Amino acid sequence: MRTTAPTEGYINVFVRHHSITENKKIGRLQVESRRPEREETYAVVLVKTDDETNYPSFDKEYLKTFLNTNSFNQIFIEWTPSNQEKDKISICSSLAKSSSGELLDEIRNAYRAQGGIFNSNYSYIFITSDSVSKNIATANGVARGQFCAIFNRSVITTVHELGHLLGLSHIFEDGQQSTRIDFRCKRTVNKFRTTNFMDYPTGENDRRNWFSRCQCRSIHTE
Ligand SMILES: [Zn+2]
Repeated sequence: MRTTAPTEGYINVFVRHHSITENKKIGRLQVESRRPEREETYAVVLVKTDDETNYPSFDKEYLKTFLNTNSFNQIFIEWTPSNQEKDKISICSSLAKSSSGELLDEIRNAYRAQGGIFNSNYSYIFITSDSVSKNIATANGVARGQFCAIFNRSVITTVHELGHLLGLSHIFEDGQQSTRIDFRCKRTVNKFRTTNFMDYPTGENDRRNWFSRCQCRSIHTE
């Protein structure tokens, strides 16, 4: 177990085994080779459409607490939200796209157009309103590179998309993520079969709550 202080460019990774009660630090994660030796900061940006009056209610502190405590069953991230970035934008409701990838592009463009500056040291989590999510038929969220958008305001969805940002694939796919992290676990399963964070949820009741040892190892680089 490493006991050294966090090093710039790394995220501390903790694992909780079933046999122990404490979260054990197992190492450090270098997030992506494309962004080496940089400190990882997550900027949470709330997104509404221009015909709405309220931004989605999504508590950064709640998310931070969720990520940093035992709700994150086997692994969690020392997460510090940035308070320096622009944290609220609106998008044109008529511009909302049906594809989650296109909507993410739309949101990124809106962020830039409304004075947001993308910091390459950051990962961006865009939390959308209910109205925006109505334009997305099936996806709860989307992740690409250092960006993800959450369409259903769920903390569990946020963890799932953060998993993608950290290089994890869906458990029903062989490693397809374009990161240095090799996620070729020996076994894949069909979707909707587990409560793993990187599976898809079944029905209304999202009970995803764990990462596998293989997933922990995959993002564990020393
Ligand atoms: Zn996914």
